Amino acid sequence: MSNSSSTVNEAAAPASAIIVGAGILGAATALFLAREGVAVRIVERQHAGWGASGRNAGYISMITRSGGPQLELANLSRSLYSQLAEELDDFEFQPNGALVYYYEEQLPLIEGFVKKRQEDGLPMEIVSGDRARELCPLLPEDVVGGIHSKSDCYLHPGKLVDALMNAAIKLGAELIDADVTELVVEDGRCVGVRTARTDIRADVVAVTAGSWTAAILEKAGLPFNVLHMRMQMAETAPIEERFNVAAYGPSLFHEYAFVRELPGYDDDIVLHPLQHIMPEVGLLELICQRADGRLWLGCPIEFVDGPDASPDPTVAGMAQTFGVLGDHVPALQHIPVERTWGGIAPQTGDGLPVMSDVPSVPGLFVGSGHAYGATVGPGSARVLADIILGRVPGLDASPFRYDRPAITEGMARSVSLG
Ligand SMILES: Cc1cc2nc3c(=O)[nH]c(=O)nc-3n(C[C@H](O)[C@H](O)[C@H](O)COP(=O)(O)OP(=O)(O)OC[C@H]3O[C@@H](n4cnc5c(N)ncnc54)[C@H](O)[C@@H]3O)c2cc1C
Repeated sequence: MSNSSSTVNEAAAPASAIIVGAGILGAATALFLAREGVAVRIVERQHAGWGASGRNAGYISMITRSGGPQLELANLSRSLYSQLAEELDDFEFQPNGALVYYYEEQLPLIEGFVKKRQEDGLPMEIVSGDRARELCPLLPEDVVGGIHSKSDCYLHPGKLVDALMNAAIKLGAELIDADVTELVVEDGRCVGVRTARTDIRADVVAVTAGSWTAAILEKAGLPFNVLHMRMQMAETAPIEERFNVAAYGPSLFHEYAFVRELPGYDDDIVLHPLQHIMPEVGLLELICQRADGRLWLGCPIEFVDGPDASPDPTVAGMAQTFGVLGDHVPALQHIPVERTWGGIAPQTGDGLPVMSDVPSVPGLFVGSGHAYGATVGPGSARVLADIILGRVPGLDASPFRYDRPAITEGMARSVSLG
């Protein structure tokens, strides 16, 4: 294991910390610091889980993490999830794998995809159409097979944030209801945060404000270049059939650069005709079932101008979700839709998040830039907490440094989800 010295705080562990933002990153970092005896205050201007962390699909998506730092971080996170599921309040953890179902058109891609992912160390196998229908009884007869990725799982995202917060608060962490307007920097060191009511001071500050991180850092003259994505979900009424895999449809393959580079890949075999009509919207074609029998369907992705764009579902997003899933899985067509929602998540230019100190401002740390924060959240928070504590993280944290060009020097529009 190697480490970049500038990502590790060489000072002694802090006695106190402020965490800005109570999403999965903030809540899990708070928990890991509180376990080490740090006095933690989490400052959140809405409520815990209000951001993307309480709105996501809850997929712990190992199958979509590319080999290298993304997958290493996801592996760390996956092992932490098994522990957290034992330790925390229930968050509907479903460790039964993911199923990517496919039709005859996608066959040229499947073997190469599975071989590549097995080489990356992911446990997965190809299953027959009948086995795919056993794993997800909604699937139609023309599904010819499935990829069963065994280490994938899913959970209830809102319950997860609540469980992390409850555990942190039990250890003494405090949740403060306030809007952080800026960082307090004295003699070049970050010593706290300013809110409308008062300044709050601590030995260190960690900004884990999701898509809103840039606004806080930029006010202190620190660039933080990310794109912003609106992602959307729909929830149906409960159904009688039961399943507990995280199901994905074949249009998923289009969203990842490492898949598009595989032999056998062709847009025409993975994209549904509706997606050609609305090319600005990507689709992580997914269906999972909650503990109460309701289905969650998703998840269209559109780039938006900034974090304060409306998170609400769009006509194009819902048209793709219902159109593509309704065509691929006709059993869905007449199930009542009870609720739709959306949220905003950041996307960095190199697809990797930031867990780092800020070398030019001692006392300041960042945990943000997560497009796949449900998947890697606990791992990212573990790495960030280790850096704050002055410990060597359990993986090479240098790819996640703040002061890398993708974050500080602008970026091109990314077309692959990190
Ligand atoms: C619909 C949807 C589906 C998704 N599906 C998945 C999925 O299946 N799997 C997956 O891995 N990822 C998924 N994601 C992405 C994932 O949700 C995010 O990557 C993750 O939640 C980011 O967590 P975070 O803690 O960094 O930010 P957030 O959860 O956005 O939290 C940031 C918090 O900071 C607070 N805040 C901001 N500014 C301030 C301020 N100035 N003062 C005080 N508080 C502030 C906000 O109120 C917010 O609560 C999805 C996202 C969406 C929207």
